[in-house]
Amino acid sequence: MQQLKQVASTDELTGLLNRRAMNAKLEEEMKRFYRYHISFCILLLDIDYFKKINDEYGHQIGDLALIHLAKTMQSAIRETDTLSRWGGEEFMVLLPATPIESARVIAERLCLSVEQSTMEIDQATIRCTISGGLSKITANQSLEQAIQIADTMLYQAKAQGRNQIAVSANT
Ligand code: C2E
Ligand code: C2E
Repeated sequence: MQQLKQVASTDELTGLLNRRAMNAKLEEEMKRFYRYHISFCILLLDIDYFKKINDEYGHQIGDLALIHLAKTMQSAIRETDTLSRWGGEEFMVLLPATPIESARVIAERLCLSVEQSTMEIDQATIRCTISGGLSKITANQSLEQAIQIADTMLYQAKAQGRNQIAVSANT
């Protein structure tokens, strides 16, 4: 039973939590917020130009890149933070009890650790970058709205040139 539960909540490729399990975790954190007023931040990350990697090297290498990036990011955050695969080349990080300015420090650390990590495949060295949108949970908004804000911020980070984080002013 435990094994079944784990399969249902894990992204098969990266071993991270999948979107469904992350949503459950976010709902739980939201309840904690309503009860104890301890705010948290959510960070939505997207690999820049991921389609180019797939097109240039093929989907198998694309998958290896996703695994590599998941490991790189996982090792750069605390065990008490949760990294999940939100979809295709998107990742979501839950930062419990973390002020927005600290969350920005973490987000920038993640960008830098991805930028500095390389993946050697056959004769090729693959490098990539990520962009991120950051938002903080506040009393007057729902979880869905906070995710929407992170998404809008991600769009802004992409529009501003990628390999960067955009932080919601609404905090
Ligand atoms: P810092 O790296 O400049 O981080 C400043 C603050 O941002 C931290 O204050 C914490 O509130 C938040 N923060 C940074 N990284 C993370 C993270 O990965 N997850 C979460 N949830 N929060 C994070 P704090 O805890 O008082 O730490 C102060 C300083 O102590 C840090 O400054 C860093 O220099 C050092 N430090 C603390 N824990 C670690 C660690 O596990 N590894 C390393 N390398 N340094 C640490
Ligand atoms: P952890 O808390 O699970 O953090 C895992 C990794 O996330 C750290 O590996 C570091 O790369 C990054 N990280 C977490 N918090 C911070 C931070 O505040 N600032 C920065 N710059 N990086 C952070 P690292 O440094 O090898 O540490 C391994 C483990 O050692 C940590 O696991 C934690 O359990 C412990 N640790 C290291 N430094 C500190 C510290 O200053 N205070 C505390 N309480 N624990 C620490």
